[in-house]
Amino acid sequence: MEEEQLRSILKCVRCGTCRSVCPIFEELGWESYSTRGRMMIAKGISEGMDLDESIVDCINACTTCGICEEMCPAGALPPDVFERIRHEIVESGAETKTQQELRENTLSTGNPMNEKGSRLGWLREIRDIPDHAGNVYFVGCLGSYRYQETVLKTYDLISEFDVTVLADEVCCGSPLLRTGSDAGELIEHNVRQMEAAGAHTIIASCAGCYNVLKNEYPGRIRVVHITEFLAENLDKLELDRLDINVTYHDPCHLGRANRIFDAPRKLISAVCELKEMKTYRENARCCGGGGGVRKGYPELSRALTEKRVAEVPEGVDYIVTCCPLCRTNMESFSKVPVIDLLDLLTMARKVDKE
Ligand code: SF4
Ligand code: SF4
Repeated sequence: MEEEQLRSILKCVRCGTCRSVCPIFEELGWESYSTRGRMMIAKGISEGMDLDESIVDCINACTTCGICEEMCPAGALPPDVFERIRHEIVESGAETKTQQELRENTLSTGNPMNEKGSRLGWLREIRDIPDHAGNVYFVGCLGSYRYQETVLKTYDLISEFDVTVLADEVCCGSPLLRTGSDAGELIEHNVRQMEAAGAHTIIASCAGCYNVLKNEYPGRIRVVHITEFLAENLDKLELDRLDINVTYHDPCHLGRANRIFDAPRKLISAVCELKEMKTYRENARCCGGGGGVRKGYPELSRALTEKRVAEVPEGVDYIVTCCPLCRTNMESFSKVPVIDLLDLLTMARKVDKE
């Protein structure tokens, strides 16, 4: 166990404040599946406790949503501790099938879904992608393979700002890092191309990619989320107002983890009416998809998603978010359509063109 995580474990005074906010504990009700319980298990492991399947499940059934960290009066960093323990689980060979599959798929195909087709399929037609540009748009795995329409609209919206994409982008590493595996190989592969492109800025549209690019890539290149980039350039976007109401879901790894709350709201409010969900900004409920929980514990993930979509206010036309994983999760169980913020902005542009 690293010094930093050990310090975090020792900071925990077992007050239980986190029990009242942990969405996994809310579902299962067992102390060992609460943040506090996991912190005690982590302490045990740091003191030599053996790993078995039930312990591995307690540590892995955490979405890394970070609301426990937000509320902790002692300043402990539970998700950081659990990710470190997951790393030890992987190293010890006690990993779950989910951890193993996520790693093996991502390292062999460059994406956790094990897609083998071209990652640039979203371009649809042969277009000239500049070899060099000041900004690189980092597309991400779900965008490249599951939300190609959104990605194409995003690229069209920002291509006038000296932007290119990587010719051979691979997964940013988030699914591996969140579930305890190393992502060094992927990170080096992407960084080499970012440097070769001569980019001074990387623009990420996925919350998970942004979190990893910003905090776990070498800090030589500036990283911005696309909502920050567009909010800075709002006056150049020529957006019209839409006669609709939407709500906004804060992705945990964009909001709580990186404090990006205002830029998405500024963009939404520029084009339509925003009605907040029951919980929002730093208190936003997790969609249930992160930290490998959607893949590893689908029933549990579903229960969290259903609670999140139940927080949608009456009378909204869309749930808007900035994370393809949150979108995937919520659109499975929501009666209200779920769209990316970039889809919303494109709708506003369309009105302008009609
Ligand atoms: S809120 Fe913080 S100090 Fe209190 S039990 Fe949870 S992790 Fe420990
Ligand atoms: S990060 Fe979220 S799911 Fe994990 S222990 Fe904390 S509150 Fe629970």
